[in-house]
Amino acid sequence: MRVIAVLLVVVGGLAALGFARHEERVREQDQLAAIASDLAGRAVGVRCPSFVASLVDTRVEGGRVQFDETGRPARHTDLSPETCKVLRHLDRIDFTCIERGDCGFKEFSAGWAAHTLAHESFHLRGFQDEGVTECYALQNTAFVAERLGVPKQQAQDLQAWLYKRGYPNEPSEYQSPQCYAGGPLDLRPHESRFP
Ligand SMILES: [Zn+2]
Repeated sequence: MRVIAVLLVVVGGLAALGFARHEERVREQDQLAAIASDLAGRAVGVRCPSFVASLVDTRVEGGRVQFDETGRPARHTDLSPETCKVLRHLDRIDFTCIERGDCGFKEFSAGWAAHTLAHESFHLRGFQDEGVTECYALQNTAFVAERLGVPKQQAQDLQAWLYKRGYPNEPSEYQSPQCYAGGPLDLRPHESRFP
């Protein structure tokens, strides 16, 4: 009897833990979906893999959006376990190192996760071309970072830093010759700052 009682406590504990994790994931997805919806201009969803699914997830990309054969995007994006994990605690990353010029890979990959959410959001808005999508995303990374708790100035610095350090190293299909200050893809052509 005592064995069964102990077993029940253990099983109950695991179930409670699983439920808490599930609740946490739902909360995070809702928060990310609100940000993505603002950028997409319509109500869209963001999916983060469950703990078990994340163990078997071997994708290398940070996120994805499916398009159907007519070129219409799905109503949600699937983010990688790593992207979701970083975004969950983005407010704990100190981006003041950008100003000092001594940031490392940790800050870069954290910033890139915020950029990934912006990128997938513009796919959800209807842009399929990677070059166009990426240019719009690079101009909205600060928006995502700020919404996730990064102070305004640090978020702006992050956006400029990723454009300077990340963009030139991307595959050519992600680079658009129209992505420059005052260019056709400049979302704020009247501001001197770019992105
Ligand atoms: Zn893309």
